[in-house]
Amino acid sequence: MTARFTGFVLAGMLAVATAGAQRPSFSDAVRRFITVDAPVVAITNVRVIDGTGAPAREAQTVVIRDDRIAAAGDAASVEVPAGAEVIDGTGRTLLPGLVMVHEHFYYPNGSGVYAQLGESFTRLYLAGGVTTLRTGGNVNGFMDLNLKSLVARGQKAGPAIDATAPYLNGPNSFVQMRALEGAADARRQVGYWADMGATSFKAYMQITRDELAAAIAEAHARGMKVTGHLCSVTYAEAAALGIDNLEHGFAAATDFVADKQPDQCPGQRAGQQTILDLDPDGEPFRALVRTLVDADVALTSTLTVFETFTPGRPMPPGLDVLVPELREQFERAYQRTAGNQSSRYVALFPKLMALERAFVEAGGLLVAGTDPTGSGGVIPGYSNQRMIELLVEAGFTPVEAIRIGTLNGATYLGRDATVGSIVAGKQADLVLVTGNPAATIGDVRNVETVFRAGVGFDPVRLIDSVRGRVGLW
Ligand SMILES: [Zn+2]
Repeated sequence: MTARFTGFVLAGMLAVATAGAQRPSFSDAVRRFITVDAPVVAITNVRVIDGTGAPAREAQTVVIRDDRIAAAGDAASVEVPAGAEVIDGTGRTLLPGLVMVHEHFYYPNGSGVYAQLGESFTRLYLAGGVTTLRTGGNVNGFMDLNLKSLVARGQKAGPAIDATAPYLNGPNSFVQMRALEGAADARRQVGYWADMGATSFKAYMQITRDELAAAIAEAHARGMKVTGHLCSVTYAEAAALGIDNLEHGFAAATDFVADKQPDQCPGQRAGQQTILDLDPDGEPFRALVRTLVDADVALTSTLTVFETFTPGRPMPPGLDVLVPELREQFERAYQRTAGNQSSRYVALFPKLMALERAFVEAGGLLVAGTDPTGSGGVIPGYSNQRMIELLVEAGFTPVEAIRIGTLNGATYLGRDATVGSIVAGKQADLVLVTGNPAATIGDVRNVETVFRAGVGFDPVRLIDSVRGRVGLW
């Protein structure tokens, strides 16, 4: 009886929800980036990589009605509705929009100052095929929260945003980061930002176990998740405290530092040295992986930022969007890195890849994010595509890598009923690329149109609107 009643109510709500109210009315500033905006769109004869890890399917028809995927299947079984705007998908591939979870609206300008670039970054993320993102910590206060709401209301072009509050950290040297003063303070900071509209939290390298426990309890009480780029707290300790996600693969784990003092960060380098020495098949690592998997702790791969620290790697894509000073600054950093052949990253970068593979093989949920920080050079949008390429280099198949960058992110965010894969009924968040990423992963860079909730955006117009000015706003 209860079930039937619930079913009736849900059906009623669904009817209201699908009555065309899903698309915001876009401002003129957003309209200039839109190339497809029809009530019904059919993409025909297209290859589909659906985001589940299943093999690519050839000769598919995908029908978009309003903000939803109305149908997706073999051309023979899916009819093109009369009056639909038809896009010929010949030679093209349709992927789900990327869902990435270690993004930022700030960039390292230098001297410990992170410039607040939400205006250009939201456009670049969308241009790169990102339709949902979580910011992985913020040093701008309200900007992440405001952008989330502005995008949702059609006033800005960008992905759907899971807006992270300012970092939860202990005493630290960042001038844009607060220092917590104990557990009650951590609880208060979480409560304040949740009330202000933050939907996600990130702990950082100097937080204590008590502060982290209090922050997790408060966030969970409000139905929100907590991730961490940790150091003072080990991965195993954080898992026991109920953390939901850990950033930077195993590069921030201090679990194996021999003389680790509780609540003290021994330095990122000390932790990374133990990771370099770690046997992926040995019991200490396997035990940690079991602990994380058993506690449902997701792990975020951020290979893109580590690649910029590693000598001998290609110049990252997208630098031409930067203001000249920032481009030159990164090019100098790149040359310094290239000249440092004793860098620990020569061995650490492939090691991180191997450990992330081992985590997945043990049943862990690996998600992806780009982390546009470090010494620069991680350019939103471009780096999200690069991230998928690096996951393939790490040993995942192209469709597995795409799953990590789409459905896995949606699953972690609890949005997998709505986004993350191409299936009838989900929101039409789609990326149309030329070529075939299932065969040549670099084809993820060939974005022709990015659909967000059924509306098609032109990546060229989005990028041209910021080219040469990223660094200013
Ligand atoms: Zn970060």
